[in-house]
Amino acid sequence: MMELNNTHNPDLKSWLSSANDKSTDFPIQNLPFAVFREADSAEYFRCGVALGDQIIDLQKLKVTNLVTRKAADALSLCQSDSLHPFMAAGQNNWSALRQALSELFTKGSGHEKLLENCLSPQSKAEFKLPCSIGDYTDFYSSIHHATAVGSLFRPDNPLLPNYKWLPIGYHGRASSIAISGTDFHRPTGQTKKPDAEVPSFGPCQRLDYELEMGIFIGPENNAGSTIAIDSSEQHIFGLCLLNDWSARDMQAWEYQPLGPFLAKSFASTISPWIVTMEALAPFRTRYTRPTDDPSPLPYLSSDKNSAQGSLDIQLAVALQTSQMKDSETEQLSQSSFRHSYWTAAQMVTHHASNGCNLQTGDLLGTGTQSGPEFEEAGSLLELTKGGKQSINLGNGEERRFLNDGDTIIMRGWCETAGRARIGFGEVRATVLPAQIISGAAQ
Ligand code: MN
Repeated sequence: MMELNNTHNPDLKSWLSSANDKSTDFPIQNLPFAVFREADSAEYFRCGVALGDQIIDLQKLKVTNLVTRKAADALSLCQSDSLHPFMAAGQNNWSALRQALSELFTKGSGHEKLLENCLSPQSKAEFKLPCSIGDYTDFYSSIHHATAVGSLFRPDNPLLPNYKWLPIGYHGRASSIAISGTDFHRPTGQTKKPDAEVPSFGPCQRLDYELEMGIFIGPENNAGSTIAIDSSEQHIFGLCLLNDWSARDMQAWEYQPLGPFLAKSFASTISPWIVTMEALAPFRTRYTRPTDDPSPLPYLSSDKNSAQGSLDIQLAVALQTSQMKDSETEQLSQSSFRHSYWTAAQMVTHHASNGCNLQTGDLLGTGTQSGPEFEEAGSLLELTKGGKQSINLGNGEERRFLNDGDTIIMRGWCETAGRARIGFGEVRATVLPAQIISGAAQ
């Protein structure tokens, strides 16, 4: 796993003053990647790195010729509208470019004048998916979420016997993953009320969000090969925020026996910025389990994974209803990825343990990250006890599930004593009314 180096030094300051703002998600110790262009322009999308309130344009940076040697090779992989070639190239390339960016944008680098021309304001940018996502797998790695949801769907048998032995997951739909800011229509589908004799078809009545992290796969493994737990993170390019929108009424009716299907495949939204594993290195924590729980099987266990396999990433979800003003939001919950029952490394290793080839750009969802406390739940399903208890908002509105016009905003950040705070920015999207197609909603 990643060692700390000079790019993590909390004393580093940038010559770009907004990067030194204590509240920025993007100090010089972060340097996350995205694909962007000026909003509503005819520009080509291109790769960029966040710094303060700006984006370092990696095409313009290349033209300066200030990036040399190994880092220049890495930079040449970032010259299209996709991060795929760079993601595939692996840790040495990622580290070389990070090192070069850190040096060039640190105060006193002497290249401010040339580099200022490579900056583009984030406030004027629009983003697209960072790469083509071939496959999407969603895990279920929070035991607190699994237990709470299990007790709603199966009160007599909330946590199934396999849960503590393997990271549960299902194969999701990659085509409906969209970048933050992409609004979507309330899905329609088949549901069956408990007291109804037959199911009916219509707009989802119990629309929910899921507070998750997304894990982007970097270098692939060949079909038939597996990934050892201590090599696992070499296959992870970085993490983003993921809102896995869920139609709970459709889910309850369709999920047995093969798992989620149309309740999940209408929309999933990711944040534009991918924070690298190297940037996250200072925020590793011990991976532990309650003493009465079984130890993971040897292929899912290692000293390194136990010592520092978990990541302390704070995650928060907020709601903005259509009645609220532009800047007004209400926080619904906050938790941390450190509560996950399975680590990112274990999810990757388990996924490839049958010889399944993971491909560059594949996205793994961690599953809803709910903490041990009730108010740390990462979905409305949990916060409203299955829709039985409404949430009272500060402006007098109430919610059990999402209304049309509701915007969900998720944020993530890491902070610990003696380290520069880094963040993920946000992922947001708004629920639009269902599109009723004449004749279809029968
Ligand atoms: Mn999910």
